[in-house]
Amino acid sequence: MSNIENVLIIGSGPAGWTAAIYAARADLQPVVFIGVPKTSPSIVLPGGQLMLTTEVENYPGFPAGVTGPDMMAAFQKQAERFGTKVRGEDIVSCDFSKQPFTLETSKGEQVQAKTVIIATGAIANWLGLENEMRLAQSGGGVSACAVCDGALPAFRDQPLAVVGGGDSALEEASYLTKFGSKVYVIHRRDEFRASKAMQHRIFNCDNAEVIWNKEVVDVLGEDSISGVLLKDTVTGEESTLDVKGLFVAIGHTPAASCLEGSGVELDEKGYVKLNTRSSKTNIEGVFAAGDIADSVYRQAISAAGMGCIAAIDAEHFLAN
Ligand code: NAP
Repeated sequence: MSNIENVLIIGSGPAGWTAAIYAARADLQPVVFIGVPKTSPSIVLPGGQLMLTTEVENYPGFPAGVTGPDMMAAFQKQAERFGTKVRGEDIVSCDFSKQPFTLETSKGEQVQAKTVIIATGAIANWLGLENEMRLAQSGGGVSACAVCDGALPAFRDQPLAVVGGGDSALEEASYLTKFGSKVYVIHRRDEFRASKAMQHRIFNCDNAEVIWNKEVVDVLGEDSISGVLLKDTVTGEESTLDVKGLFVAIGHTPAASCLEGSGVELDEKGYVKLNTRSSKTNIEGVFAAGDIADSVYRQAISAAGMGCIAAIDAEHFLAN
């Protein structure tokens, strides 16, 4: 068993690193478990969803934009500058039943901590197609975040497609209509689950078109996307649609597997429940920040803000 850590942070996206910067500057010598890279069933990398984002143009302080991976490398460097310890493992289970908390790493080691900040994020759901993953990883025009990538030059004045029928899909489609020459919303049924207001916005938009009852069964193109292969969910008929960008918006899954049996309360969608206006979970000394506790805003800047709040909450907990 190792030393008892003051602050153990699980996750290395904007929330995790910001919590580390604040905790390290408060002399708490935090340790960040950055996680092990995975490629299946979804791509999950240390650094989180920003590692799959080509250009970030909406994070204040980067007037010329910054790539997601460069931004996460800078966050890590800043956290390390103040003495943050970095461990390249996953946390696979948490025992929060007594102080100090005991957590198990993916190497089977037990680690102990007085406070834990859960910043494991959420994983965008993908369709699970080989060419979709290949072009998403290579920056070939497939993305799971229109707000992150939609304004890039490659998508300007081009036909684009969004997959999904929820609020995220319609919001992303609506956002993309500002850039694309035409935005197709491809949905597998003949009605949306999105709110009426969002539906209205899409139905009333001149350069948006809904393609009902279609599934994307392949993504076409070598270095960058040239189109999608569609299959009619009623007739089974296949067709192609030429697009220069594909945005998959079929929901997110909170990365909460390490919390199974930990007693941390989750909401009906599996996100960590927080006390209003703080990062406190239902367990004293356990805090959460970023997308793992946010199914609504899901932005790098809001996650970083939550990381700051969590570190300050952890500091107050330790002081008292
Ligand atoms: P969601 O509501 O779960 O919708 C996911 C959509 O993706 C559904 O239309 C679903 O189709 C489709 N889908 C799922 N798996 C698919 C697959 N394998 N292939 C093709 N389509 C697939 O997720 P969300 O849109 O991300 O929204 C999540 C939550 O955040 C919701 O509560 C939403 O209201 C909220 N939200 C709110 C706002 C806002 O208020 N501005 C914006 C974004 C999100 P089916 O309909 O056929 O199941």
